[in-house]
Amino acid sequence: MQTERLRIAIQKKGRLAKECHELLKRCGVKINFSGDRLIVHAENMPIDLLLVRDDDIPGLIMDGVVDLGVIGENELEEVRLERVALGEPNEYVKLRRLDFGGCRLSVAIDKDKTYNGPQDLAGKRIATTYPNILKDYLDKQDVKFSTCMLNGSVEVAPRAGLADAICDLVSTGATLEANGLKEAEVIFRSKAVLIQRMGEFDADKTALIERLLTRIKGVIQAKESKYIMLHAPSETLEQVVELLPGAEDPTILPLAHDKQRVAVHLVSTENLFWETMEKLKALGASSILVLPIEKMME
Ligand code: ATP
Ligand code: MG
Repeated sequence: MQTERLRIAIQKKGRLAKECHELLKRCGVKINFSGDRLIVHAENMPIDLLLVRDDDIPGLIMDGVVDLGVIGENELEEVRLERVALGEPNEYVKLRRLDFGGCRLSVAIDKDKTYNGPQDLAGKRIATTYPNILKDYLDKQDVKFSTCMLNGSVEVAPRAGLADAICDLVSTGATLEANGLKEAEVIFRSKAVLIQRMGEFDADKTALIERLLTRIKGVIQAKESKYIMLHAPSETLEQVVELLPGAEDPTILPLAHDKQRVAVHLVSTENLFWETMEKLKALGASSILVLPIEKMME
């Protein structure tokens, strides 16, 4: 079913929702998220957003019901494996990995137990929301185990006597620690990704997706980059430039009233650390400014 407007599925509420809103806003897509609607229309572009549970996003893409989606790779891979097993449509195009939603899917065990590798999980019951990713991983290690499917409170399963171990998402590890568990094995590393359905798109939609992608790239690059300005003695200029991260092509400008010094401007792909700033100062650099970049396009 082709609609004229580009349909993008994003999580309605939860860990990915806020960052999705922020990303769209930075890309110049104007959306009013107030109210409790399933579909919201962008005010300034032919884009409709579908606000759904994250569990539904991979299927909507794989069935070709929406054009684009933002989803955690963990959820995407889980649904893909499930659909492969069921012989249902399971294809999608990965357009871009995004810079949020980072986490890992890990097996965790009682903090007092020893762990020497996946073989220690043989014959154990593991509680998880991701049975397909877990099975895929442990099948490859030739480890037989059983699962206990839980959609929430996975971390209390061992204490409640429901399972010997768990396989759950971890970011800081605080939840594991609070439940007397320790991370034993990372089985999948995940970030949010932008995905696209298979099949053809008309010229207008293709162009709009291209535009969005360019903007997303610009937003992510801008966040990771800094604009650095400083004054340096012409004498030590080469050493100064060598210290600057990612300074392939700095702009060098004369100063109005000081012939011995120049201004150096550059976009750096990294932050400038205090240690580097101190070294620059020691080389005679002054007026060192590190500025955030709001947008960029190459
Ligand atoms: P929904 O109601 O949409 O089904 P949910 O409860 O399944 O939401 P969230 O907890 O909002 O999902 O997490 C969404 C995604 O955020 C996860 O699938 C994962 O990709 C990512 N994520 C990042 N850090 C974490 C974390 N510490 N714990 C869980 N998920 C995380
Ligand atoms: Mg979910």
